[in-house]
Amino acid sequence: MMHHRWVLPDGTPSNAREIFLSRWSAAASAAGLVCDHLGTVDGHALELFGHPQCAGKGVRLLITAGFHGEEPAGPWGLLQWLQTQGGDWQQRFAGRADIRLIPLVNATGFQMGRRFNDRGENPNRGFNLAIDPTRPSAEGALLIQHASLLREASRDGVLSCHEDIAADAAYVYTLESQAQPSARSQALVATLERYLPRHEDGLVDHCPVHDGIVFNQLDGSFEAWLFREGARYGACLETPGRQAIATRIAAQAGMIESFVQNALEI
Ligand SMILES: [Zn+2]
Repeated sequence: MMHHRWVLPDGTPSNAREIFLSRWSAAASAAGLVCDHLGTVDGHALELFGHPQCAGKGVRLLITAGFHGEEPAGPWGLLQWLQTQGGDWQQRFAGRADIRLIPLVNATGFQMGRRFNDRGENPNRGFNLAIDPTRPSAEGALLIQHASLLREASRDGVLSCHEDIAADAAYVYTLESQAQPSARSQALVATLERYLPRHEDGLVDHCPVHDGIVFNQLDGSFEAWLFREGARYGACLETPGRQAIATRIAAQAGMIESFVQNALEI
């Protein structure tokens, strides 16, 4: 299994898990977020963050990152987005949005710059045994144990932050209960294009991509699971590993903001 690592502009290695977690903790405190401990996998906590004054009111959004350990711009991008909220979270979102964040699903893979966890499992598979017999990873099984909490948290949308490390250009997967991508999906792509080249039309991972979108691909992923469970909208970001890490992180943060802003307007 290959190991992948980049150096952030401030010199931090992209796989520096303890530095990531300490910056996350500081940014979460500054925003007033509290942590819901979902459980532990091989000694690593799997945590869900939210703002207690925003609980249960407005649109419900779930944003996750770090399913695949060789895709570091997801977690770092979510951190960058959280840092830009600073102390304005409650003022911006109270009564309007209950946003829950899972910053790092696959802690062991992240530390190694490796796609799978220490057990050799893919944390983003095993959520739909009817179409894919792959069993859930330890992290996936823990998430499935919290199905009712996650279903409620993602009622108005679920976003998962990934990367395609072999790609030169960016794209998104979106899941919608309609025949064509909505304005919400097009806004994600328009944001992506402010930072990165958009993937040309054709195939990615055997799936058709058109205008930067792989549409309604109901696979065994986490986001497809929650979409089947009733989330109104699902999306998965894919920034290209062959572009600069700082640009990928900024693109992730920008698309997260687009996802949130568009949900506030529905
Ligand atoms: Zn991935």
